[in-house]
Amino acid sequence: MKVLLTGAAGYIGSHTAQRLLDSGHEVYFIDNLSTSDKRNLSKLNISGDFMDINDVEKVQELLHTHRFDAVMHFAAFISVGESVQNPMKYFYNNTAKSISLIQSAVEAKVPCFVFSSTAAVYGMPKEIPIPEEAKVQPMNPYGLSKSMVEQVLLEASKYSDMETIIFRYFNAAGADTTHGLGELHDPETHLIPLTLQHLLGKRDSISIFGTDYPTPDGTCIRDYIHVLDLADAHILGMEYALREKKSNIFNLGNGQGFSVREVIQTAEKVTGKKANVIEAPRREGDPPILVASSEKAKRELGWVPQRNSLEHIIKSQWDFMQKL
Ligand code: UDP
Repeated sequence: MKVLLTGAAGYIGSHTAQRLLDSGHEVYFIDNLSTSDKRNLSKLNISGDFMDINDVEKVQELLHTHRFDAVMHFAAFISVGESVQNPMKYFYNNTAKSISLIQSAVEAKVPCFVFSSTAAVYGMPKEIPIPEEAKVQPMNPYGLSKSMVEQVLLEASKYSDMETIIFRYFNAAGADTTHGLGELHDPETHLIPLTLQHLLGKRDSISIFGTDYPTPDGTCIRDYIHVLDLADAHILGMEYALREKKSNIFNLGNGQGFSVREVIQTAEKVTGKKANVIEAPRREGDPPILVASSEKAKRELGWVPQRNSLEHIIKSQWDFMQKL
């Protein structure tokens, strides 16, 4: 298959690009490098263009020239905290620009569109683990920016020949040590890389955002899923859409929840170092618990996450960061 990746320089995009190449697919990228690091891109043997996804003229020319089998749309801003401070930044970048890309893809008759959505669309879910049928009720602008795109895509796929696969990621983590890829955001806001940066001596401490949540140890619980397992799901999702001519929504998670404290303790165990932990106030927009039911992806896509242990996930990111 010939696949266009937006945001291929980013974390999940770069790992998926490598998995696609390893499976014999042809990959082309577009990226505006607004938040990603060229270091991941330089490790990938792919060609592409540095442009915005809403540069309609250039995007349409690209889509008409290459006739892609699928577009995988990773490019987005991803920080919950920032989205609360500056919602319009998220509605413009994540929502408006994505709609422009979707319109270009429909117009160019791209048969499959795979979209990176998020567990944040569920807000504060009633049922844990969360099934895909749970109410979509985001509690921060980041989640809302993604859920609006989901709706546009589902409508677009009804009225065109383009099938849509929506993946609601839980917490992507870990690294592809074989290819020297890993989590490398700028600025970094995620718990695992921040904890490891601290344990590497690059930060004075690690803060826990909120210790009074209604969870056993008072800190938020998340479902950490290895980035390579996410990458594999994209290939299965694309194949499914093209084979079955069906659109669908899938959660991608591990099914297991870990608290912020448990993540920090596991990082201490993996690295053999002691963290200087600061108990800080809650970060606005954080739901207490997000844990996936991924039974649907397993059942319908045959997706089997291979790298489930939190220790393994953290160790792979630690190995990547030590080599940087
Ligand atoms: N978190 C934290 N300290 C940090 C970064 C994150 O306590 O320095 C918490 C955050 O409040 C959330 C969890 O760790 O409860 C996971 O946050 P992250 O930003 O990694 O991912 P998110 O769940 O927001 O996608």
